[in-house]
Amino acid sequence: MESFKNLGISEFVLKSINDSKFESPSEIQEKSIPLILAGKDVIAGSATGSGKTLAFASGILKSAEKGKGIQALVLTPTRELAEQVAQALAKFSKYRPLGIIAVYGGVGITPQIKGLQTADVVVGTPGRLLDHIGRSTIKLGRVKTLVLDEADRMFDMGFKDDVERIIMKCPQERQTLLFSATITKDVVRLSQKHMKKPLQVSVDSYVDPKKLVQTYYDIADEMKLSLLVHLLKNENSNLVMVFCNTKRNTDKVAKNLRFSGVDAVAIHGGLTQGKRSDVMRLFHSGKACVLVCTDVAARGLDIPGVSHVYNYDIPRESKQYIHRIGRTARAGAEGKAINILSNKDYDNFSAVLKETGVKIQEEIIPAFEKVAIRQPERRMNRPMMNKPVVKKGQQRNRRRRLY
Ligand code: AMP
Repeated sequence: MESFKNLGISEFVLKSINDSKFESPSEIQEKSIPLILAGKDVIAGSATGSGKTLAFASGILKSAEKGKGIQALVLTPTRELAEQVAQALAKFSKYRPLGIIAVYGGVGITPQIKGLQTADVVVGTPGRLLDHIGRSTIKLGRVKTLVLDEADRMFDMGFKDDVERIIMKCPQERQTLLFSATITKDVVRLSQKHMKKPLQVSVDSYVDPKKLVQTYYDIADEMKLSLLVHLLKNENSNLVMVFCNTKRNTDKVAKNLRFSGVDAVAIHGGLTQGKRSDVMRLFHSGKACVLVCTDVAARGLDIPGVSHVYNYDIPRESKQYIHRIGRTARAGAEGKAINILSNKDYDNFSAVLKETGVKIQEEIIPAFEKVAIRQPERRMNRPMMNKPVVKKGQQRNRRRRLY
């Protein structure tokens, strides 16, 4: 606790840190909290799992007071991250409670409008925040702390202009904190335009390489699923994340795992908010131990206890590889990242090795049983007799709807 105290964190926040049983500050907390508490604008290079939420929470909680209007605004790329950050802020402010609200799309706006009237801290996704700005249901004139969380991800998702429009609605006299896994050109440009003499801090690695074993299997494409089933049934694991590159593959893999007796659920951007929340509840509660996901859906989710990360598809962008493996071997725990590659993945895999410098050991393919691959249910259940006649030019759209 002494070491947290040395960073200058307020007494009431220290009490909640004590409740959380954090033993010592993480690297990003050690480097950024003193600057944040000194009121500086800070650019922090850090990913999910680094402890960044407490870093910016300590700044927000230092200055925000109950009942004085919205004094802090946190922008996040995804709804799940908005919820997660709002919950973390509520936890850290337990001994001096504030009105904290998460606002994001895909759910009713009326309760949010009501909540915004008494909110002290708002965490939200850019689209819904702009919606509230357009309706004049959010007042940003008293914002003292603006946080851009996972800024690179927000830009990747096409929110750059939206983020700028929201920044322009905040008072110029404010502290701006920007957190980003990678410091991209867009991040630098935004910081030059909207931050005051920002100080930059970074943490070198997202995971402790000594705690993370990385391996790969090189196998024929049609055998990937059978090998995955075999590994999932034979590896001694806790929670598992299986990454795919497309929504279609995510659904296909999750369904086939269930056919083979593995409790798997799928999450991707094509699901409604209600469905996404249901899936996350199942996974968090351990009722489903395998989460099959795309990068977009998984980004920002804080899921403790992930022992294995599988790459069923090797990501197209090398930095995604780093994000994916960062989901395991967190907070001192051990983890395993297993890549299942076929010839379709070779190019992406070479790029990962070259651009990230990670060390990945080849594993010998074990003896395993071949499982029959089934197509997604909706296609399979469609009775042939009722199959609508699809003209050549309509084929693409119809397919898109089916998946
Ligand atoms: P974050 O990167 O903020 O999403 O935090 C990742 C996880 O680490 C969360 O579950 C936090 O509760 C946890 N955490 C944050 N700071 C610390 C710390 N100093 N020691 C141990 N765990 C921490």
